[in-house]
Amino acid sequence: MKELEFLSDEVLSLMELREDVLFNKIPKEDVKYYIDEANRIGKSSAEVFKNSNLEEILKAKCIDVIIKESCEVRKLSLRGEIIFEDDNKKIIIYKDSIDQIYEVLKEYNFSLEEQDVYNMHLAHEFYHYLEYKNKAYTNDMLNKITVFSIGPLKRKATILKTRELAAHSFCKSILGLEFHPKLFDYMYLLKNNTISLEELKSYAENLSKEYL
Ligand SMILES: [Zn+2]
Repeated sequence: MKELEFLSDEVLSLMELREDVLFNKIPKEDVKYYIDEANRIGKSSAEVFKNSNLEEILKAKCIDVIIKESCEVRKLSLRGEIIFEDDNKKIIIYKDSIDQIYEVLKEYNFSLEEQDVYNMHLAHEFYHYLEYKNKAYTNDMLNKITVFSIGPLKRKATILKTRELAAHSFCKSILGLEFHPKLFDYMYLLKNNTISLEELKSYAENLSKEYL
């Protein structure tokens, strides 16, 4: 695991934020603000639930958890999603996503059980559930950016990826994980040779140099 030490929580958050379609509209000096604040929001949301069992919380809130094989229908590789209607509250977890991560973890000799990976998915989606339920979306709580401006005419927008940053940090915190959940996505890409370790390293280094 030493070889992936350069992927700190902050770097992983930056890499995730970098995937936002509006990333280039964020003033460089504000990038750290979005990372720090999104992570703070996720972590502080987890405080309330510390030391409680995730599945029991969901049961108490009458949220059903459904495990589906995969989300082929939409031809997307989703890890999970939430369905939220008044009398219909569901978290859907995709088994192929759990399997995918679990296989990678084994190859890297992580001592995690499949149940732990399942809990990671659950915690992540539960954060999105809370955002929805409380009408407290992470991106809405953070400063808007200007995407377009001509004279006094300005169009503002929010940074959607901050929801993902917060969900990861919520997940890490509520489950007391030693590793940032986003790390597993990159481990998967490495194992599948989608990216080489050198490429990943230089990508992370360049991003950090520029924004952190
Ligand atoms: Zn998410």
